[in-house]
Amino acid sequence: MTLKEKLITHTETYDHWSKRRRYGPDGANNLNLWVLACMDERLPVDEALGIHVDSPAGGGDAHCFRNAGGIVTDDAIRSAMLTCNFFGTKEIVIVQHTQCGMLSADAKDLEKHFRDKGVDTDNITLDPTLPELKLENGAFAKWIGMMDDVDVTCMKTVEAFRNHPLIPKDTVISGWIWEVETRRLRAPTLDIEKRARTDVTAVQFGVKGKQPTRWE
Ligand SMILES: [Zn+2]
Repeated sequence: MTLKEKLITHTETYDHWSKRRRYGPDGANNLNLWVLACMDERLPVDEALGIHVDSPAGGGDAHCFRNAGGIVTDDAIRSAMLTCNFFGTKEIVIVQHTQCGMLSADAKDLEKHFRDKGVDTDNITLDPTLPELKLENGAFAKWIGMMDDVDVTCMKTVEAFRNHPLIPKDTVISGWIWEVETRRLRAPTLDIEKRARTDVTAVQFGVKGKQPTRWE
């Protein structure tokens, strides 16, 4: 291939890349992939999954959504719904991690933090641009989404996406745990030996009793 031919291909490819979202499913990201990950700075998504989400510039392997815990929220569902139905995404990968801040406190104590400051947690506008989005009374602590066990949460998160009516049934979905202590990825498990070197439960953070659960 001559340099001229290479440059033509390169500029055409780049042109298509930069205008991707105009092409719907034909303008999918490189791996037809949506990643849901915890926002934690100790979870390096690219390294954990061996992909290039947004670096180096021009990578573009996946759409990536990060929130506290890497859990199901209405906005995670909204984003997955868009990419899976309209932007060509065929696979969802969920990454949560050991030592997660979402294990580190009791959600009821976090709610109390606001109540003590005079905030009425039963009357919160969650999204000022969407006042229709409301929590029932008493649901605030549950909404925070603290975890008892990150492996259990990861497995339940996979299930929730698998069963959601807005996610196409043929979407490939998997969940993974990044071990902050060993810098390795593993499948979620309840096997005590496999979890031995890591902190994966709220009990290990000194949290007593169960979190208000999202999984009933
Ligand atoms: Zn986390």
